Amino acid sequence: MSTAETTPTHFIRNIISEDLAVGKNNRRVHTRFPPEPNGYLHIGHAKSICLNFGLAAEFGGLCNLRFDDTNPSKEDVEYVESIKSDVRWLGFDWGDREYYASDYFEQLYQYAVQLIKASKAYVCDLSADQIREYRGTLTEPGKDSPYRTRSVAENVDLFQRMRVGEFPDGTRTLRAKIDMASPNLNMRDPVMYRILHAAHHRTGDRWCIYPTYDFAHGQSDSIEGITHSICTLEFEDHRPLYDWFLEQLNIHHPQQIEFARLNLTHTVLSKRKLLQLVQQGHVTGWDDPRMPTLAGFRRRGYTPESIRSFCERIGVAKRNSIVDIAMLEHCLREDLNRRAPRVMAVLRPLRIVITNYPEEQVEELDAVNNPEDPGMGTRKVPFSRVLYIEQEDFREEPPKGFFRLSPGREVRLRYAYIIKCVDVVEDPKTGAVTELRCTYDPDTKSGSAQSNRKVKAILHWVSAAHAIEAEVRLYDHLFTAENPDDVEEGVDWTSNINPKSLETLTSCRVEPFLANASSRSRYQFERLGYFCVDSVDSSDRRLVFNRTVTLRDPWAKIEKAQKKG
Ligand code: ATP
Ligand code: MG
Repeated sequence: MSTAETTPTHFIRNIISEDLAVGKNNRRVHTRFPPEPNGYLHIGHAKSICLNFGLAAEFGGLCNLRFDDTNPSKEDVEYVESIKSDVRWLGFDWGDREYYASDYFEQLYQYAVQLIKASKAYVCDLSADQIREYRGTLTEPGKDSPYRTRSVAENVDLFQRMRVGEFPDGTRTLRAKIDMASPNLNMRDPVMYRILHAAHHRTGDRWCIYPTYDFAHGQSDSIEGITHSICTLEFEDHRPLYDWFLEQLNIHHPQQIEFARLNLTHTVLSKRKLLQLVQQGHVTGWDDPRMPTLAGFRRRGYTPESIRSFCERIGVAKRNSIVDIAMLEHCLREDLNRRAPRVMAVLRPLRIVITNYPEEQVEELDAVNNPEDPGMGTRKVPFSRVLYIEQEDFREEPPKGFFRLSPGREVRLRYAYIIKCVDVVEDPKTGAVTELRCTYDPDTKSGSAQSNRKVKAILHWVSAAHAIEAEVRLYDHLFTAENPDDVEEGVDWTSNINPKSLETLTSCRVEPFLANASSRSRYQFERLGYFCVDSVDSSDRRLVFNRTVTLRDPWAKIEKAQKKG
């Protein structure tokens, strides 16, 4: 099933089509992706990026990249840089439209003054705790702040003095004057500005008052002339507040549209939690190949195409749900199957000696690079007397249903010959199998007239003298539980971390074709999965691969069953 055929339309696309049909916004479509630079982007953000940039491209519009950097205590330029490279990697371009909410601090300040002068905002001396007490609950209305009735002149003066730094952190706030009895808690005189004597990664020490996200976000969209302000469902209850600000200020009014955020099984998608994983050393960093960050997926070997295809397929809805991570892996396999060259590698080597093969002889056998794409050509694979096969492809006493190598049995070596195991060499102390003695049948060379003699298994292998040593890292889900956040009271979500999410194999052997494999290049190791060269730890002297994904595709089965049913 190709992606194009299954691409469903969705309600946001329909809204934009209708707006264009009636000539709204002068037929402009202008969206934005507005990350807060307080962490690395994760796959949930990819959904939002694909949606915002995708819709703009589809309707001939524009999409801005805007950093919503209103909280200096958590933000950092490292995050700004990582976000830019991740958006680019995913395949999107914001042109020269790289914006920062902090660029609008002066304008936002003037908007605040405008509201004060219209008696729509006031300086409040209640502490954060008191504000919370006064706010009331879902069932009880709030109480007016005693400072709510301050005169315009006093408010203008106090707000100006807040700005120049006369007051310590937390002593005063600027609040919108709306309705302390509103059934929507967001409308109960929300804070617009707080005092924070903290350096900002862009504005330095110029400001010691910072706008709240709720005050900055909608106005920033308005300043940029955004037409469709697409955000996740948790902002639905904030929309009346954003509308209120825009109406009071009488400025351009983008239309906010909410959609359900992406959740994925066996992982967490919250920057706060991802930061905790990094800080507590559960992973090696934001780009650890087990992380659901775009940096992690990239290092793991994911293609941007596979992530974009996944984001198309999951669709856009109004109801929260959890997507099976098997679906993401399915999109990845589909893409890698088309483009990754096949090679042979042995993860846990078992030495075999072909006793009837001449000592010094080496044959260069033809191997197909990708059966899915003949255009990718063939390569030569050296065959010689001493080879390695996978330990698990041999059983001294084969159980029922095991058709691979065992004493007296024949198997085919891929692209080579049929071999037969004639003797097993064991370590005299431990009894462990250290070597197999085999014979080969010279008449069974792949591609020859008799090459189709039937045997039950085809094994991958490498030539011992020609193979290159490599380290291979095998990954499993970072969390054992499907929903790591679903824990009993008193139990921490980190208790769901999978202790076996990483297995490192240090004495693997790969075929010589991979000698010059470049950083991040991707391959299918026959029968073992898709792998890529690690961009951080691999070097000229040490070849390190990450397993991107195994070959077995549970999602393909699910999809098939769904089609039938
Ligand atoms: P987190 O919950 O991970 O901290 P956030 O919403 O605080 O995420 P922002 O930097 O504010 O992170 O997000 C930028 C944009 O990405 C926002 O428009 C937000 O709605 C969207 N976004 C964040 N997480 C998801 C998700 N899981 N699915 C879809 N969109 C998301
Ligand atoms: Mg947010």
